[in-house]
Amino acid sequence: MHEFMRQKLQNLEEEMLQKGWKDSLLSLYAQSRRNSRFHHCPSDKTKRLLQSQIFQPTNLLEDNRPSWLTYKSQQLMLQAGLIHPSSPGCYSYLPVMVRAMEKLIRLIDKEMQGLGGQKINMPSLCSATLWKKSERWDLVGKELFRLRDRLSKEYCLGPTHEEVITDLIASQHNFSYKKLPLLLYQITRKFRDEPSPRYGLLRSREFYMKDMYTFDVSEEAARHTYRTVCDAYCRVLSRLGLQFLKVQASAGNIGGQMSHEFQLPAEIGEDELLVCSSCEFSANVETVQPDQNRCPACQGELTKSKGIEIGHTFYLGTKYSSTFNAVYFNAQLEPVVVEMGCYGLGVTRMLAAAIEILSTADGIRWPELIAPYQVLLIPPKQGSKEEGATALIEALYDDISKAIPQLKDDMVLDDRSYFTIGKRLNYANQLGYPYVIIAGKRALDTPSQFEVQCQNTGETLFLSKEGVMGLLNEVPAV
Ligand SMILES: [Zn+2]
Repeated sequence: MHEFMRQKLQNLEEEMLQKGWKDSLLSLYAQSRRNSRFHHCPSDKTKRLLQSQIFQPTNLLEDNRPSWLTYKSQQLMLQAGLIHPSSPGCYSYLPVMVRAMEKLIRLIDKEMQGLGGQKINMPSLCSATLWKKSERWDLVGKELFRLRDRLSKEYCLGPTHEEVITDLIASQHNFSYKKLPLLLYQITRKFRDEPSPRYGLLRSREFYMKDMYTFDVSEEAARHTYRTVCDAYCRVLSRLGLQFLKVQASAGNIGGQMSHEFQLPAEIGEDELLVCSSCEFSANVETVQPDQNRCPACQGELTKSKGIEIGHTFYLGTKYSSTFNAVYFNAQLEPVVVEMGCYGLGVTRMLAAAIEILSTADGIRWPELIAPYQVLLIPPKQGSKEEGATALIEALYDDISKAIPQLKDDMVLDDRSYFTIGKRLNYANQLGYPYVIIAGKRALDTPSQFEVQCQNTGETLFLSKEGVMGLLNEVPAV
């Protein structure tokens, strides 16, 4: 027997205890047919995504919160089977989490490419030679993961790529002004040896970041590019429905002449901010005098606030390009040192921060646009008076997939019908689905009424099939 089927049989044992052997045999028969070599035949009917098949090792019912779990997002993500710790500050991102992450990446891709950004992918292993050239090898200190190859050459695991990309541009011969502005970005794993990697994905040692590097002919052009990238960051955050502040920031060891952070206001935030009560000015406290309590622009009062930093932009000028001799050739064919900017956006941190801010104490809430799944459908319990509605909600699933293509792979059927509706609804509330559709008593009315719980607004609606379709047609997709 194939290992695969043996595994299936094992899983069925549990089901047998719940459902009785007759149902299980029928289910086994159905599964063996589904797993047959005809499974991938294109004429297959709509394939439903079943909750029982998703690899999401949840740990929802126990309150086993260890004392070091200080952040809500970390606890919720571990309990909901989104992440799994591997070593301090390093996590496996599990399938449901990866879905949300890929949606967020699609959203970021669209905005960056809308600016003319071109996606690249640079090595994680970065040569120490480049980092010594920029003098950051010594400046960055212990946060940099350092290693040696078999020939004893030194490398770091890249936390950011100013050196690598400036060296790439410097290696171009006859790099023409006609290529500028040039916007290159990547969305890759970054590394930072955090001293206390305790806060889940808010402060981990391996994380995903979008980093963009821009190249312009002049300071004026570079400042214009800087504004357009900042505007794109604002659009990303607005589309996610997240409140944010763009604050004046310190350039730290990246350097440059102008810098802003994108902060999500949150009590647990590690950054201290000052926000003007009468204009739009806000700043990280690092950038102002210790006793400053008046806004420099309008003399308005500055109030203290806290935030989670999820993005950081820098107008670099020629800090790196002059060191690496990255030049372009102007219309007179003279070499000119290129003007640069760099722009980070924490992908995994943004997911954790959104969960931290939007969730309730015991249930994850996602920005609707990037929820791993948009819709959960809950059929009645097996053997209940409403069992007849099972076929109705399955038909609803199939009809939605046909009529609303962007939801086709975004719906889950909670087929664990040996659980009551209430128990599955409880799971759903903890895992977070913008729309939960339940086939309860009223599904058997003529015409059928489905109960729809909109988790992000807290509304409960009773809708006909047409009503459900109308509602879901408006669901945004990325
Ligand atoms: Zn002000």
